[in-house]
Amino acid sequence: MVKKIGVLTSGGDAPGMNAAVRSVVRSAIALGLEVYGIHDGYLGMYEGRIERLYRKSVSEKMGHGGTFLGTARLPEFADQEVREKAIENLRIYGIDAVVTIGGDGTYRGALALSKMGIRTIAIPGTIDNDIAGTKFTIGFDTALNTAVEAVDKLRDTSSSHRRCSIVEVMGRNCGDLAIWTAIAVGAECVICKETGFNLEEIIENVTKSAKSKNHAIIIAAEHMVDINELAREVSERTPFEARTTVLGYIQRGGCPSAKDRVLASEMGVKAVQTLVETDETGVCVCDEGEIIATLPIEKAINGDDTAPVLEKYKVFKMLW
Ligand code: ADP
Repeated sequence: MVKKIGVLTSGGDAPGMNAAVRSVVRSAIALGLEVYGIHDGYLGMYEGRIERLYRKSVSEKMGHGGTFLGTARLPEFADQEVREKAIENLRIYGIDAVVTIGGDGTYRGALALSKMGIRTIAIPGTIDNDIAGTKFTIGFDTALNTAVEAVDKLRDTSSSHRRCSIVEVMGRNCGDLAIWTAIAVGAECVICKETGFNLEEIIENVTKSAKSKNHAIIIAAEHMVDINELAREVSERTPFEARTTVLGYIQRGGCPSAKDRVLASEMGVKAVQTLVETDETGVCVCDEGEIIATLPIEKAINGDDTAPVLEKYKVFKMLW
């Protein structure tokens, strides 16, 4: 019977992580548990930076971006001895289960802890939407809206100058951010892991656009292509002069959208209920559309999530 739980945020931060922590804390207290915040993810677990959290500790945190618990990367957490030391710290506080909020690296850490006897449940907190088994991850909706707002602004200026804007968005392992942005802004081209990069098709689309529009927009996921080199090709081979913009970390910041706040709240409650009402461990919470469910972490890590991205790509191509 679980009595004391820890909660941490780890890896890349995402808007809505605070709402998820708040939800874990409030629902755990409502169900009679003690909750401990572990600072800076697995690093704080290793260093013993752990503090008791109360209802008040999470007041007015819902709408704040980032994570008030802090986040960090600790590659050494893959080593058994490092995890043993971290588990010793959990034992000092009597913590028998941990809720981890983060991306697939954080999931791997949670799975490793579970195999060593600490009950874990993971919540998907990443703007990349790159976790299989869940329709959405916490932070994706906010990052998408940030990207769309930025591209809308770029379109105003590129229309005035008859330019092509090449915009790099995040999402190296999953093209959702790129494709959803491309559809939402009516881009000419999208480049991501699932669609690949076809220079000739891009030149053709942009050239066609120049006949009827004052601007063109290309959305590229990070690490897919050298966007400066692409801008040179577009400027040389189409009527548009191309300019590049890397949205970068701006996509990670800002107040979480209402949708991310609600998703984070639902997932936090589900994580705590799962710890109290079942003996599941090494599982993650996932948004199955109608319901929030749980799934073994192994399935989420090894699952293939390309089909929904390709479905969206079909829509993109149909509308262009
Ligand atoms: P994200 O969770 O956003 O994918 P990372 O990939 O950086 O971010 O992972 C976050 C942290 O999870 C890492 O710094 C490390 O502490 C832990 N982690 C990642 N992979 C493993 C692993 N194979 N075993 C144990 N811990 C891991």
